This record gives sequence, C-alpha cells and structure tokens, in this order.
Amino acid sequence: MNIIIMGKQGSGKGTQAKLIAEHYGLKHLSTGDLYRQKVAEKDELAMKMKEFSDKGELVPDELVIELVKENLGEEGTLFDGFPRTLEQAEKLDELIDIDMVIELQISDEEVKERMLKRGRVDDTEESINRRLDIYHEKTEPLIEYYRPRDIVREVDGTGSVEEIFERIKKVIDAEKAGE
Ligand code: AMP
Repeated sequence: MNIIIMGKQGSGKGTQAKLIAEHYGLKHLSTGDLYRQKVAEKDELAMKMKEFSDKGELVPDELVIELVKENLGEEGTLFDGFPRTLEQAEKLDELIDIDMVIELQISDEEVKERMLKRGRVDDTEESINRRLDIYHEKTEPLIEYYRPRDIVREVDGTGSVEEIFERIKKVIDAEKAGE
C-alpha cells in the first residue's frame, strides 16, 4: 500500500507518519528528513539549497525526486512531505500507484502555535508564514489533483497524538477491508 500524508508543516504530520509506517509495515519516506540528512553529510547540492530551505522555501523538484527514487519501500511507502508541487505529484505517478491520500486538517493559527513550540532552526515566524503561503499556493491544490480518483481521505488533525492516530487507523482499515 502506498499512502501520502498531507498537511501543513506543524500539523503533526511527521509524528503520525511514523506511527502509520510502523503500524502498517510501510517505509516512512520523509523528504524533509532525507534533505536534512544530505545537508548534514555536506552534500554539495543540498548545501547550495540550505539558504532557501532555511527561509521556508521549497528546494528544486529534481533534488527531492532523486531522494524519493533512492528511498522507495519494497512493501509500500508512506510519503511524508512529498509531493509538495504538481510536478512532483506527476513524477510520482510515473513511479508508483498511490492508494490513499490522507489530509490532516488543522487551522493556520493552530499550526503557528505548534511550530513555534517545536523550536527547529527553520521555525522562525517569517519562515512559518512563508511555508503556510507555499502550502496554500502549491501543495493544497494537490488534494484536488488526487480527488477525482476517490482516494482522498480527510482527517481531523486536532486533539492528542493518540486521538488523531485512531482516526487515521479507522480510515486506513476501512480502505483495507474494502480491498
Ligand atoms: P519538512 O521537514 O517537510 O518541513 O521539510 C523541510 C524543508 O525541506 C522544506 O521547507 C523544504 O525546503 C525542503 N523540502 C522537503 N520536502 C520537500 C519537497 N517535497 N519539495 C520541496 N522542498 C522540500
């Protein structure tokens, strides 16, 4: 099973992605984590992009698509933070079939509050606002890209980690039961 989890940065997406991948035996593929790993390894291309990513800007599609190709799971993948643009979604369609897109729903206000608490280096107020703008502009339209396939499942992203995970499991289990 290949699942995409979508949600604004700070929606709790990463935490839920880990739980889902573990519970269903999927490979957790976070392009943000992979990108940070490349930066830590002083990868030339990733280092060049650091100035942009620190400001909350997206890094080029080619770079993330390469990271995705190198890290697909054999038994299914849970995509976290990818795709973020239409071009990435189209590229992904050439690589594999997507079974489900989970959209974690949460307001911009709540996201801002959570991210400022998270305290990551790229979590300045300016960068958070920039990332929300990019999400609305580039990533949110992807929901409509996938919707005609009837694979989009909206999940309330408010509440505790456990509560949200229960909602997600319900949605995935229902899908599996109908397979
Ligand atoms: P994240 O951990 O998902 O918030 O990603 C951190 C940063 O890595 C983002 O702000 C982007 O600069 C970059 N990044 C991660 N995933 C992608 C993607 N799919 N497309 C473009 N840039 C990405």
